[in-house]
Amino acid sequence: MARYTGPVCRLCRREGQKLFLKGTKCFTDKCPVERRAYAPGQHGQATARRRKASEYAHQLREKQKVKRIYGVSEKPFRNLFVKAARQPGITGENLIIGLESRLDNIVYRMGFAASRKEARQIVRHRHVLVNGHMVDVASYQVLPGDEVRLAPKSKDILPVQAALESKTKPSKVTWLAVDEASRTGRMVERPSRADIPLAVQEQLIVELYSK
Ligand code: SF4
Repeated sequence: MARYTGPVCRLCRREGQKLFLKGTKCFTDKCPVERRAYAPGQHGQATARRRKASEYAHQLREKQKVKRIYGVSEKPFRNLFVKAARQPGITGENLIIGLESRLDNIVYRMGFAASRKEARQIVRHRHVLVNGHMVDVASYQVLPGDEVRLAPKSKDILPVQAALESKTKPSKVTWLAVDEASRTGRMVERPSRADIPLAVQEQLIVELYSK
């Protein structure tokens, strides 16, 4: 399925909460979720008044929400789920850890991009090195000990500078060590679910895919 290229604020409104897909703009009072707290489209307001959603609808919405937060389409998301289910431990937690270990997310968490979408562009435009080698695949899985740095020519490109100067950076995480001056970071250890600041119920996604 093709990547969604429409207005991202619609995605937040569909989920009924802020997913922070637009970087710094999400922290202004112009956020549409705050101004129009109902689903987008002609029947958005009517949907809000309808009866309680089914269990399936809850599970589906949770999956869509996580996909939208990380900007991952259905097929790679499903593949990540299959991989997570094969790993030891709790499948839902493995899934979230897999999403967090994506290179675009790591660049975002390190503060080198204002949003995951911007981070994905930075990676695709060949501005990022992993252990000294250029990697332009956003879904690349970063492993503990890996060093992620911006290429020398890319250290001061506009989006990176703006993200580093922004007052609304993503929350710092203990499993990443970052040196902003040299535009370098390292994954210190594999994160546990408790180390990931993400308010989602991943168990609902496991239930959905296990039907
Ligand atoms: Fe979502 Fe940000 Fe748009 Fe608000 S401004 S609806 S948080 S993408």
